[in-house]
Amino acid sequence: MEIRKASFLLSNTDVSKCPPPTLPEYAFIGRSNVGKSSLINMLANNNSLAKISGTPGKTRLINHFIINESWYLVDLPGYGYAKVPRSERTKYENMIRQYILKRENLYCLFILIDIRHEPQKIDLEFMEWIGMNQVPFVMVFTKTDKLKPDEVQTKIELYTEKMFEIWEEMPTYFITSAVKILGKTEILDFIDEINLKAK
Ligand code: GDP
Repeated sequence: MEIRKASFLLSNTDVSKCPPPTLPEYAFIGRSNVGKSSLINMLANNNSLAKISGTPGKTRLINHFIINESWYLVDLPGYGYAKVPRSERTKYENMIRQYILKRENLYCLFILIDIRHEPQKIDLEFMEWIGMNQVPFVMVFTKTDKLKPDEVQTKIELYTEKMFEIWEEMPTYFITSAVKILGKTEILDFIDEINLKAK
């Protein structure tokens, strides 16, 4: 699949105000600065679709985009940004939780992970919570151009080991780089396949 048309639809802070759940929906989430805006822009061939934030954690809204007039792409706020005051963090983390649990047309959550770091507790705990609530998800390793191919492999093996402490199998994962345009076809084909099955 190619994204021919991508338009911003609306932003809100409340799952009940999202567009009617009539189309398949795919949401993207990860720690602030993980490269989420860059990945979304890469998928959409549009360098200004999702704002590439100068200030990490700036976007705290559920942002809906309509793609090819047939599915929704959702840019969720980044989590785990320490500089945000606790009261505010609780508020938008709660918003994210409500969205994930209540959005009936959410077909898959894409959890972004910066390949350069060791497995982070916050990501592991988030995935555990997602799994407990039986929300379908995949992992997306970002910024892989920053490591050598064998280092990428080592990091993925490390993650696989960590995941096996909780999971019986490694979730589907994608190796991406917004700089080298890596993983784009794989992610879009994955979405396309689910969309076809949903028809
Ligand atoms: P967000 O806060 O998760 O939306 O992250 P951004 O997309 O704004 O990216 C955060 C920073 O990482 C920016 O300086 C980007 O240029 C950089 N970045 C994002 N993706 C990549 C990538 O694939 N490769 C490299 N080298 N840098 C990236």
